[in-house]
Amino acid sequence: MSASTSSSSSSYPILLTPGPLTTSDRTRQAMLRDWGSWDGDFNQITARIRQNVLRIVNGEATHECVPMQGSGTFSVEAAIGTLTLKNAHVLVPNNGAYCARLARISKVLGRKTSTIDYTEAQQVSPADVDKALAADPSITHVALVHCETGAGVLNPLHEIALVVAKHGKGLIIDAMSSFGAIDIDAGKTPFDAVIAASGKCLEGVPGMGFVIARRTVLEKCEGNSHSLALDLYDQWVYMNKTTQWRFTPPTHVVAALDEAITQYFDEGGLAARGGRYERNCKALIEGMRQLGFRSYLDDDIQAPIIVTFHAPDDPAYDFKRFYQEVKKRGYILYPGKLTAMETFRVGCIGHFGEAGIPGAVAAVADTLKAMGIKQVTAPETVA
Ligand SMILES: *Cc1c(COP(=O)(O)O)cnc(C)c1O
Repeated sequence: MSASTSSSSSSYPILLTPGPLTTSDRTRQAMLRDWGSWDGDFNQITARIRQNVLRIVNGEATHECVPMQGSGTFSVEAAIGTLTLKNAHVLVPNNGAYCARLARISKVLGRKTSTIDYTEAQQVSPADVDKALAADPSITHVALVHCETGAGVLNPLHEIALVVAKHGKGLIIDAMSSFGAIDIDAGKTPFDAVIAASGKCLEGVPGMGFVIARRTVLEKCEGNSHSLALDLYDQWVYMNKTTQWRFTPPTHVVAALDEAITQYFDEGGLAARGGRYERNCKALIEGMRQLGFRSYLDDDIQAPIIVTFHAPDDPAYDFKRFYQEVKKRGYILYPGKLTAMETFRVGCIGHFGEAGIPGAVAAVADTLKAMGIKQVTAPETVA
């Protein structure tokens, strides 16, 4: 039996993962035709996406949206490589796996890289960023993950952005898992770049990202990039000149994203999308707590995107079997991404109806019974 409760006519499991995620029939159907990459109709789609993405962050007057082929990480690498000079010094506040990836990218690109290290259960503190920037004037940029998808922490972007601006430094934001669901307003929150992708809160399919870069910054970035393919400046200039992508675009992904963005605005935009995810997150945490599960993060730093739970403290528990049993009941979970502790994660994002989360909690309850797991609550552990 399938527990598929989305408006989808398919009987595939619902993905409770933070991208790829469950998409609508309309979005998937938008991929059922082929496009020429040089074709005017296709290039109008690209232009519309760029415009709509800027609209979502209120950035039409100040910023440019440059799309990039590949998964989200390709756009992060393109942004660091293009928007910072080779002798830049990048500060990465680090509270999880995606922050660590950001720091790694900066190092691989030869940028001097410093980190402020936290545990995966802590939020980045604006005061720490302030101190670090005051202590080391050689830092040129802060690279921040907005929602750290590793454990699910929401970092205080606006407050950090004000600190970075006060010091006159550049801010590059990996907003991959928050963009479109958690407010970022270019008119209020100063930033050099926000990076996001097609297959997350906009509910498109994976395959492209985009960088929303401050126009006055991007204009000065000719020749910075270490890479031919990941040069955002060249992509931007070529796209403005020809309306085309520089190299073959993922045409079906682009068409699907355009259709997904239409549905995003139809739903009510950011307030509606973010509100739906918050209701999902609340229902998930409450339902799982009733089964005896403990969420890993304090509620006040939990982003409504993905929730980490402690694994059951029972010898009958095994993630692989747990995963398979829940999948049989119609839902795809996600393994934990913490360094030290046995956890699993459940995403709150994607196109599924309000019955999706209660259905998933029921599937977990049923799975606990099937596996003979009695001890769900793990003992208190220090993070
Ligand atoms: C998904 C995600 C990325 C990009 O990961 P890819 O696997 O390259 O798509 C980067 N940062 C964060 C915070 C993410 O959630």
